[in-house]
Amino acid sequence: MTLQFGRPMVAIPGPSIVPDRVLNAMHRPMANIYDGELVEMTNRLKQELPAIARTTADVFLTISNGHGAWEMAITNTLSRGDKVLVLESGHFAPAWGALATTAGVDVEILPGSLDRPVDPAAVEARLREDVDHELRAVLVVQVDTGTTVRNDIAAIRSAIDAADHPALFMVDCIASLGCVRYEMDAWGVDVTVAATQKGLMVPPGMAFVWANGKALAAYETSDLHTGYWDWGPRLDKEAPHYYQYAGTPPVSHIYGMIEALDMLAEEGLENVWRRHDVLARSVHAAVDAWSTPDGLSLNVGDPDARAATVTTVLTGSIDGERLRAICESRMGLTLGIPFGAFDGRAFRIGHMGHLNPPMLLGTLGSIEAGLQAMDAPLAGSGVAAAAGVIAEELRT
Ligand SMILES: *Cc1c(COP(=O)(O)O)cnc(C)c1O
Repeated sequence: MTLQFGRPMVAIPGPSIVPDRVLNAMHRPMANIYDGELVEMTNRLKQELPAIARTTADVFLTISNGHGAWEMAITNTLSRGDKVLVLESGHFAPAWGALATTAGVDVEILPGSLDRPVDPAAVEARLREDVDHELRAVLVVQVDTGTTVRNDIAAIRSAIDAADHPALFMVDCIASLGCVRYEMDAWGVDVTVAATQKGLMVPPGMAFVWANGKALAAYETSDLHTGYWDWGPRLDKEAPHYYQYAGTPPVSHIYGMIEALDMLAEEGLENVWRRHDVLARSVHAAVDAWSTPDGLSLNVGDPDARAATVTTVLTGSIDGERLRAICESRMGLTLGIPFGAFDGRAFRIGHMGHLNPPMLLGTLGSIEAGLQAMDAPLAGSGVAAAAGVIAEELRT
């Protein structure tokens, strides 16, 4: 017997739920790519995307997933043999480093943990040792989607400044932009990377790289430029629309991204961040309420270091694979798989982008039903705890 027939719910950390408004906006015939509305829309993307990252920096548009934006950031700012420092807080920053290695960059990883954010004091100490300034860039993620740790980007900037180090500061916001407070200019970030399919509510296939003046100056001397990713032709403001994308523009994604920007503007970025904070705290309260010594628990102990977009739940003695299977095949709820080191001992709940209390409480209620059906050890009702957090917000 399955109860799954109804609207399916995908609670994975990307691709996240695409709003009907965005899907409908994308469902249009192809247009003139040389002239008219589409060109104006690209201009709007270039004008409005900087505000989402809270910057006045230029933004480059790629037709790719996040990996493409990673490669664009590396190959336009660094040279063969340059050293970079990658700050580990899970899988994703080292994966960015691995990609940089294939481009010819020499990567050093500052080791981190699986449940705590990057330690700014360790960053400062390592940079102080680098008296000859051999390290050309520092790479970090704002949110690691595997550990679901959130790093304190402003504190890491302060650590770089305290060491008086000139390295470029590059931040991956793929799992956090448009969900979690991010201040590219105020926090002194030189390069920011994001993609459409997580907090930005658009299907995978387009990504963005914001580059400030220091990053554009680094472009002038970097020697890893390749044809497609090269910023040069894209920087030419007089060049035809076609060259903004180094080829045919992603017509449907442009329509979708414009609609998503309208939605973010209607809600207001600060409200978007607030909504994510409330919903995330309700997920954390649910897991805490379920938690028993031999059962579920949150991977990230420190509430201030938890991502507001995705949560890794450790499963203890509970069979997380069976829980995910019950949720998906019996109730139409897809949960996130554990990542890397968490294999066989966790699942993830994605809660980013187009999400409100009925959607999230439905997800948490379905997980609770699945746990009950498995006779899993549960200390109490996670749904009641989550509703309590939302109710507290409603009183204000
Ligand atoms: C998803 C993700 C990536 C990879 O993005 P793709 O679009 O899958 O290439 C990189 N970094 C973070 C933090 C992510 O969450």
